[in-house]
Formats: sequence, C-alpha cells, structure tokens
Amino acid sequence: MPDDLFFHNPEDLAKARDAVFSATLDRIFEHHPHYSRLYREKGVLRSDISGIADIGRLPVTSKADFVGRPEDFTLKLPDTFDATERIVWDVMYTTGSTGDPTPFVSTSYDFLNILALNRNMLRLRGVTANDVILNLFPLTRHPHGAFARAMNAAASFGIPVVAAMPGAPSPRHPQLGNRMDEVCALAARTDATILWGVPSYMRKMLGRAEELGVRLPSVRLVFVTGEGFGEEARRDLVDRLKRLGASDPKISVSYGSTEMQGGMVECTPGSGYLNPAPLQFYFEAVDPETHQPVPDGEEGLILLTHLDRRGSTVLRYALGDTARLTRTICPHCGALTERLVSIPVRRDGFVKIKGMLVNPQAMVDALAAEGDIVDFQAFVEKEDEDDVLSMDRLRIRFRARDDSAEVGRRAAEKVKATIGVTPLMEPVGVSDSVLEGAGWKAKPIIDLRKKPQ
Ligand SMILES: [Zn+2]
Repeated sequence: MPDDLFFHNPEDLAKARDAVFSATLDRIFEHHPHYSRLYREKGVLRSDISGIADIGRLPVTSKADFVGRPEDFTLKLPDTFDATERIVWDVMYTTGSTGDPTPFVSTSYDFLNILALNRNMLRLRGVTANDVILNLFPLTRHPHGAFARAMNAAASFGIPVVAAMPGAPSPRHPQLGNRMDEVCALAARTDATILWGVPSYMRKMLGRAEELGVRLPSVRLVFVTGEGFGEEARRDLVDRLKRLGASDPKISVSYGSTEMQGGMVECTPGSGYLNPAPLQFYFEAVDPETHQPVPDGEEGLILLTHLDRRGSTVLRYALGDTARLTRTICPHCGALTERLVSIPVRRDGFVKIKGMLVNPQAMVDALAAEGDIVDFQAFVEKEDEDDVLSMDRLRIRFRARDDSAEVGRRAAEKVKATIGVTPLMEPVGVSDSVLEGAGWKAKPIIDLRKKPQ
C-alpha cells in the first residue's frame, strides 16, 4: 500500500478509497439509524452506490440534521462485528442547536484513525523528530478537539509535548492551571520548538514574554486553527517571535472541525488547506442551492464524507462554509489529496468567538428565558476596535426590569453556561432603545469585527 498522502495517480487513490468506503457503506445501510432510515425513505439501495463515483446520489446532510439527533448518527453495530468497532473510546463535543453541545463519539477503531490523521497533519506541517510541542490550549468545560489533539498528535509522532494549561480550570483544584507569566516561563524552560494554540491568546502571551524579557529562540513553528486568521495576523506573530529570538518562525494555519477530529492543514504558508487523510475523508464542493458539484477550483459549499468511521459518522455533510476546492496535486509537497485554495467563509449563521463556534440562537433562547431582561442586543467586537488582531469580545446591551447589576450577573452566567463565552453585560436606561437596526430577532448577534486582510 503506497503512502496514503502520496498516491501516484488519482485512479489508485480512488481504488484505495473505495475499498475502505465500501466497508463503511455496508455498515451504514444496515446499522446507521439516520441514514438507513433516510435511504429507505428515498429509495436508495446499497447496490446503487458502488463507491465515491456514485456519492452524488446520496442527499446532503446539514449540521441541523446531525445536532438535532446526534445519537442517530452513531453506528449501532451488533456484536458480530469486532469489539474495537463498537467500544467507545471518547466523546468530544461540538456546538449544538440549543445550549447543549452535540456529542461526537469515537470508537477504538476510530481513535487509531485519529492518531494516523494527527500524524499526517504533523508530517504536512513539517514537524521532525527533534521538535517539542507546547500545548497552549486551555481545558474546556466539555472535551473538544483542541487540548486533546495536541497531546494525541505528539503521541502519534513520538515527540515530547508540554501542556501549559493556561488559566484556572477549577476553583476545586487551585494548583491546576498556569497564569500567563508561568506559561511564558514554561515556554522558555521547555525550549519548545512548536507553539500550538488559539492565536489571540498566543499573541498576548508573546507580548507578555517580551515584557518579561523571556527568550524563545527555538520556536520554529506555530500552529493555529484559524477562522479569520489572515496575512496581517501571520506577520504579526512572526514579528513578535523574531523579537523573542526565533530566527525563522513559520505560521501553519489549519481548518479544523470536530467532525474531522483534526483539520485540513497548510504544508507551507499559503499552500491552501490539505485533506491530511485521503483514506479517511472525502471532500466535495457543491452549489449551495442545487447541491450539484462545482468545477474544480470554483467556490462551493464544502461537504465532508467519512470514508472509514464506526462511531459518529456523516456522509456528504455540509461543514457550513464555502471555499474553492481543487483535486490537483499540491505543487508544494506533491500530496495527492483535496485542497481548499481559499479561506473558508461561514454560511450557516454560526459565529466564531474567541475560536469557539457559537450558535447565536442558543444565546438568544437563554436570554429570552430570563424574565427580568426586557430586551437586549448582542455584539461581537474586538477588545481594541483599531486592532483586528486583539481578542474577541461578546458585549450584550440589555434593559432590565429591576436591579440591573444582579440581572446582568445572572445573565452573564447563563450565557457562559450556554455558549461557553463570558459576555460583557452593558445595562442601558429605561428610555434607551436597546434594539437597533434589524433587531435581535432578525439578527441575534451583530458582528462588528473588521475582516482580516
Ligand atoms: Zn502541499
């Protein structure tokens, strides 16, 4: 079997993909609650789908389909199948339709695939056996990719990782977690060569390191997952690292999703985002309205198909973004796989705040249930409006029935519990009109952030 990233021609790759996809399809038609029901209703038979070539016969799956009944998207395999295909290894969470995040289940079988995927992501990003990763993701209330991914990726590649655990995960364990100054010291002490985390945090941390006189000469790679991470932001991080002694730091951006348990990555800055596991994932770009395929390299709605999963499994799943997709060999590294050659643009009404995917409707529902709030309007903005690279902030203007300080505190807690973002609550007087523009019913969150260059 050739290296899964470097098949010699598209025919060989297609054959290898169909081999794993065929086994997945056999299980889906029989044992996937959602798809077995849907395909029966639509009259689609297993024999109609010989492989990826026939995938257009399957209907597109929306995020709403999945988050509405996530349990119906996990294969229910009988015990005639190997135990590794059925054992739940872990459950990660993605944004849900209500306040509850949606579980995404991986079996032991899937976890090995995830490790292989992580390994390929590191290979494409140019990691070597001499690298040391500093994991700058904080612990989160619900497990989601970021923190665990950096740990697992290191395991898949046989290199050291240090988890900086920024912040205070819990008042029950005051000894866990590190303040920013401690994180800076840790970065220097471990001589990390790779920084991996949320760009806005990393930027603050590098600023603080400069103030403290910390040197980070060994840093050569920075991994960011980047909605809205543009050229200006890339230059800024590189400049900051150079001031800390790094000689030629490179920023590697990925386009990640819970449904991938990883992300599409750049092999070199500006290469576009490569599918790092062509035997696990198949990507398409289709017309957002008609769902007909668009020509190679043209903008379309991006669909993800799991070719080889056993836990939560989706076929032709709209990730919620449009981008330009090409299947030509990457001119930079020679990989034969799908590549997004434009920055994906969100189309499904979800909003990213501080790197977290947020469903505005969930926030509206939570606030609407607070009887003491008469009306409100939410804004996403930058802490410093003149600085597109500063931290995101969620600001909620509201009018309360009585003591606005108490109501605001309670509402902030509720919003934090619902969408994971702590808002800045801004009470307004009785005579002020809170509702501006289209009003929150039409547009629950107004995004004031300037788009990056
Ligand atoms: Zn490449």
